[in-house]
Amino acid sequence: MKYQSTRGAPPISLDHALQHGIASDGGLFLPVRLPRFDDADFDSSKDIRETAATFLAPFFEDSSLAAELDEIIAETFSFPVPLQSLSTNAGTLEVLELFHGPTAAFKDFGARFLAACLSRLQADPAHPLTILVATSGDTGGAVAAAFDKRPGIRVVVLYPDGRVSERQAKQLTCWSDNVLSLAVQGSFDDCQAMVKSAMAEETLADRYRFTSANSINIGRLLPQCIYYIHAAAGHFHATERKPGFIIPTGNLGNGFACFMARQSGAPIGSIILATNANRLIPDFLQGAEWESRKSVQTLASAMDVGNPSNMERLRFLGGEAEQLNESIRAIAVDDYDITAEIKRHYERYATAICPHTATASYVWRQLSDEEKGNGDWIIVATAHPAKFERIVEPIIGTSVAMPEALETLMSRQQRFSKIKPDLESLVAAMDEHFAA
Ligand SMILES: *Cc1c(COP(=O)(O)O)cnc(C)c1O
Repeated sequence: MKYQSTRGAPPISLDHALQHGIASDGGLFLPVRLPRFDDADFDSSKDIRETAATFLAPFFEDSSLAAELDEIIAETFSFPVPLQSLSTNAGTLEVLELFHGPTAAFKDFGARFLAACLSRLQADPAHPLTILVATSGDTGGAVAAAFDKRPGIRVVVLYPDGRVSERQAKQLTCWSDNVLSLAVQGSFDDCQAMVKSAMAEETLADRYRFTSANSINIGRLLPQCIYYIHAAAGHFHATERKPGFIIPTGNLGNGFACFMARQSGAPIGSIILATNANRLIPDFLQGAEWESRKSVQTLASAMDVGNPSNMERLRFLGGEAEQLNESIRAIAVDDYDITAEIKRHYERYATAICPHTATASYVWRQLSDEEKGNGDWIIVATAHPAKFERIVEPIIGTSVAMPEALETLMSRQQRFSKIKPDLESLVAAMDEHFAA
């Protein structure tokens, strides 16, 4: 399988696409054609790893990693992905819990898969790869965790100082020497802009062998398709109906993965993207221009994205707003409704949800009774509520127990540098840390 750029540069191999992250013309990689599956392909899969092996095989055709795909899958899907059922007035609602990995958010899937791939491709510890990652909170922790102590690979994490939760900050800063954590005095958009400008500087990019681990890397997207397919196939075989997914959305990596899975033939019904007050996607689908906006801060901070990168992929595969409107919906949820939803959800089901998950739960609640009726909806729970305890605990009036993985990280030593939001400060910090 070859991978093309959304902007037209000639197709390249998966191995190159994984290592470069972004295409030479600034576009994002997509397979030249999507493999087509049908419902029977996922029929007997009982283990999510079998689903992964079936789905990923065509994407890895001709890759030097093809023979190791099973190991890569085993390293990635090494924790449970439960589907919980809630019984509601309007039938059953299912919740796909994606937060049982080492850093308690769904970013663990993409980060671990990418780490498993890149560490196999990178055979020259004397000339390390440097992964630059801008994070609004969860990506950085997941990527740092996945690459911590991997020989021949360095990670530089940029996060907006003061705009991530305390527990997220700890997860971003508790790693070994191959991880440099930078608290940038600016927004997530500033961090993302710094990464882009660093990668565009040719001499710098050569010296550091930059690559990206943001959701623009195809290696992040591929594993994210799997949990949708697995959950949908299970539901479909039990009910003969395709479930719809409601997905908390920021940079659109997770939502796009669901779309790509459906385009490949997975038994997925409706897709609804739930955004926070950063509402460029819903506005675009309703006719607004696609123009990058300044992100606004919300309670669902990992979704505070003013210019969602993966829209470029969605438009490439799904067309412009008019056409997209037939296949996908998007609804914005503001902080007031996020807060009310966390409270309501807790009162009703005695379960705490994180502010991101609350956007999806709220969107489900807003559906008409008719739409809710069949109980064919799955909301996607993207992070564990204990990661956002400062928000969640006051709302529900009680404490949220931390998962064990998270607790382990909290006791570690933190190391980070504060820098200004410009390229010079980034380069100075890297040169100092990696000077040897
Ligand atoms: C990253 C993140 C999101 C948004 O996912 P995208 O792929 O950027 O749309 C939602 N919730 C949580 C908890 C996240 O960490």
